[in-house]
Amino acid sequence: MHRKMLIGVYNNVIFFVIECEDVLKHELHARNIDIISLQNSFTLLCHHLYPNKHHKTVKLIFKKDLNNKESYYLYGTETFHIHCIPERSILIEHLLHEFRHWIQAIIQKKSVKMIDYDADDPNLTVYSKKYWHNPLEVDARRFVIKHRKRFMQYMDYFSAKD
Ligand SMILES: [Zn+2]
Repeated sequence: MHRKMLIGVYNNVIFFVIECEDVLKHELHARNIDIISLQNSFTLLCHHLYPNKHHKTVKLIFKKDLNNKESYYLYGTETFHIHCIPERSILIEHLLHEFRHWIQAIIQKKSVKMIDYDADDPNLTVYSKKYWHNPLEVDARRFVIKHRKRFMQYMDYFSAKD
Protein backbone atom coordinates (compact mmCIF):
# COMPACT_ATOMS: atom_id res chain seq x y z
CA MET A 1 0.00 0.00 0.00
CA HIS A 2 2.80 2.35 0.82
CA ARG A 3 4.41 1.57 -2.43
CA LYS A 4 1.35 2.59 -4.41
CA MET A 5 1.13 5.81 -2.48
CA LEU A 6 4.74 6.60 -3.11
CA ILE A 7 4.42 6.00 -6.81
CA GLY A 8 1.41 8.34 -6.83
CA VAL A 9 3.33 11.04 -5.05
CA TYR A 10 6.48 10.69 -7.12
CA ASN A 11 4.77 10.41 -10.47
CA ASN A 12 5.36 14.03 -11.26
CA VAL A 13 8.83 14.58 -9.90
CA ILE A 14 12.13 15.10 -11.61
CA PHE A 15 14.73 13.56 -9.32
CA PHE A 16 18.18 15.06 -9.43
CA VAL A 17 21.24 12.96 -8.84
CA ILE A 18 24.49 14.86 -8.55
CA GLU A 19 27.75 13.26 -9.54
CA CYS A 20 30.65 15.00 -7.86
CA GLU A 21 34.37 14.34 -7.52
CA ASP A 22 35.56 13.56 -3.99
CA VAL A 23 37.85 16.59 -3.86
CA LEU A 24 34.98 18.93 -4.62
CA LYS A 25 32.64 17.01 -2.34
CA HIS A 26 35.01 17.62 0.57
CA GLU A 27 35.33 21.32 -0.23
CA LEU A 28 31.57 21.70 -0.40
CA HIS A 29 31.26 19.79 2.83
CA ALA A 30 33.63 22.23 4.50
CA ARG A 31 31.05 24.90 3.61
CA ASN A 32 28.30 22.80 5.16
CA ILE A 33 26.88 21.83 1.79
CA ASP A 34 26.38 18.17 1.15
CA ILE A 35 25.46 16.68 -2.18
CA ILE A 36 22.41 14.80 -0.91
CA SER A 37 20.88 17.99 0.51
CA LEU A 38 21.65 19.75 -2.71
CA GLN A 39 20.06 17.16 -4.97
CA ASN A 40 16.99 16.93 -2.71
CA SER A 41 16.65 20.70 -2.73
CA PHE A 42 16.93 20.89 -6.53
CA THR A 43 14.29 18.15 -6.71
CA LEU A 44 11.87 20.00 -4.42
CA LEU A 45 12.39 23.35 -6.11
CA CYS A 46 11.89 21.84 -9.55
CA HIS A 47 8.72 20.15 -8.32
CA HIS A 48 7.51 23.47 -6.90
CA LEU A 49 8.12 25.17 -10.25
CA TYR A 50 6.96 22.35 -12.51
CA PRO A 51 4.49 20.18 -10.58
CA ASN A 52 3.26 18.48 -13.74
CA LYS A 53 6.53 17.26 -15.14
CA HIS A 54 6.74 13.53 -15.66
CA HIS A 55 8.85 11.45 -13.38
CA LYS A 56 12.41 10.98 -14.48
CA THR A 57 15.86 10.98 -12.98
CA VAL A 58 18.27 13.63 -14.15
CA LYS A 59 21.99 13.45 -13.58
CA LEU A 60 23.97 16.62 -12.96
CA ILE A 61 27.75 16.61 -12.86
CA PHE A 62 29.75 18.96 -10.64
CA LYS A 63 33.33 19.49 -11.69
CA LYS A 64 36.01 21.55 -10.08
CA ASP A 65 37.47 23.89 -12.66
CA LEU A 66 40.31 26.19 -11.71
CA ASN A 67 41.01 27.31 -15.26
CA ASN A 68 38.11 29.71 -15.29
CA LYS A 69 37.64 32.89 -13.34
CA GLU A 70 33.95 32.20 -12.67
CA SER A 71 31.83 29.15 -11.98
CA TYR A 72 29.60 28.34 -14.93
CA TYR A 73 27.14 25.89 -16.42
CA LEU A 74 27.99 24.56 -19.85
CA TYR A 75 24.74 25.48 -21.58
CA GLY A 76 22.64 22.54 -22.74
CA THR A 77 24.72 19.93 -20.95
CA GLU A 78 24.56 18.28 -17.52
CA THR A 79 27.83 19.77 -16.31
CA PHE A 80 28.38 22.49 -13.75
CA HIS A 81 31.89 23.84 -13.39
CA ILE A 82 32.68 25.13 -9.95
CA HIS A 83 35.56 27.56 -9.81
CA CYS A 84 35.69 28.85 -6.28
CA ILE A 85 34.17 27.85 -2.99
CA PRO A 86 32.98 31.05 -1.29
CA GLU A 87 31.02 31.05 1.95
CA ARG A 88 27.86 28.96 2.09
CA SER A 89 25.06 31.40 1.21
CA ILE A 90 27.00 32.92 -1.70
CA LEU A 91 27.90 29.50 -3.03
CA ILE A 92 24.27 28.36 -2.82
CA GLU A 93 23.22 31.47 -4.75
CA HIS A 94 25.83 30.67 -7.42
CA LEU A 95 24.54 27.13 -7.71
CA LEU A 96 20.97 28.35 -7.93
CA HIS A 97 21.97 30.76 -10.70
CA GLU A 98 23.60 27.97 -12.68
CA PHE A 99 20.65 25.68 -11.98
CA ARG A 100 18.41 28.30 -13.60
CA HIS A 101 20.57 28.12 -16.72
CA TRP A 102 20.00 24.36 -16.71
CA ILE A 103 16.21 24.99 -16.53
CA GLN A 104 16.43 27.50 -19.39
CA ALA A 105 18.31 25.02 -21.56
CA ILE A 106 16.69 21.70 -20.71
CA ILE A 107 13.14 22.46 -19.53
CA GLN A 108 12.38 25.76 -21.24
CA LYS A 109 14.43 24.78 -24.29
CA LYS A 110 15.77 28.27 -24.80
CA SER A 111 18.22 28.34 -27.65
CA VAL A 112 21.95 28.46 -27.05
CA LYS A 113 21.91 31.31 -29.60
CA MET A 114 20.52 33.51 -26.87
CA ILE A 115 24.00 33.53 -25.35
CA ASP A 116 25.25 36.40 -27.48
CA TYR A 117 28.29 37.33 -25.41
CA ASP A 118 31.69 35.81 -25.86
CA ALA A 119 32.41 33.79 -22.74
CA ASP A 120 36.05 33.36 -23.84
CA ASP A 121 36.67 37.08 -24.12
CA PRO A 122 39.32 37.78 -21.45
CA ASN A 123 37.88 41.27 -20.95
CA LEU A 124 34.40 39.96 -20.21
CA THR A 125 33.25 40.46 -16.64
CA VAL A 126 29.90 39.93 -14.94
CA TYR A 127 29.37 43.67 -15.36
CA SER A 128 30.14 43.81 -19.08
CA LYS A 129 27.13 45.34 -20.81
CA LYS A 130 26.49 42.40 -23.12
CA TYR A 131 26.65 39.89 -20.30
CA TRP A 132 24.74 41.92 -17.72
CA HIS A 133 21.82 42.67 -20.07
CA ASN A 134 21.66 39.25 -21.68
CA PRO A 135 18.07 38.01 -21.22
CA LEU A 136 19.19 34.62 -19.85
CA GLU A 137 21.44 36.32 -17.29
CA VAL A 138 18.77 38.84 -16.27
CA ASP A 139 16.36 35.94 -15.83
CA ALA A 140 18.87 33.88 -13.81
CA ARG A 141 19.55 36.79 -11.45
CA ARG A 142 15.82 37.38 -10.94
CA PHE A 143 15.35 33.66 -10.34
CA VAL A 144 17.89 33.69 -7.52
CA ILE A 145 16.25 36.70 -5.86
CA LYS A 146 12.83 35.09 -6.13
CA HIS A 147 13.69 31.57 -4.97
CA ARG A 148 16.77 31.80 -2.74
CA LYS A 149 14.79 31.98 0.50
CA ARG A 150 12.78 28.86 -0.33
CA PHE A 151 15.90 27.06 -1.51
CA MET A 152 17.86 27.98 1.62
CA GLN A 153 15.00 26.59 3.70
CA TYR A 154 15.20 23.31 1.78
CA MET A 155 18.97 23.21 2.25
CA ASP A 156 18.71 23.94 5.96
CA TYR A 157 16.01 21.32 6.35
CA PHE A 158 18.03 18.60 4.65
CA SER A 159 21.31 19.63 6.27
CA ALA A 160 19.90 19.73 9.80
CA LYS A 161 21.49 17.26 12.14
CA ASP A 162 19.27 15.55 14.66
ZN1 LIG B 1 24.71 33.19 -15.66
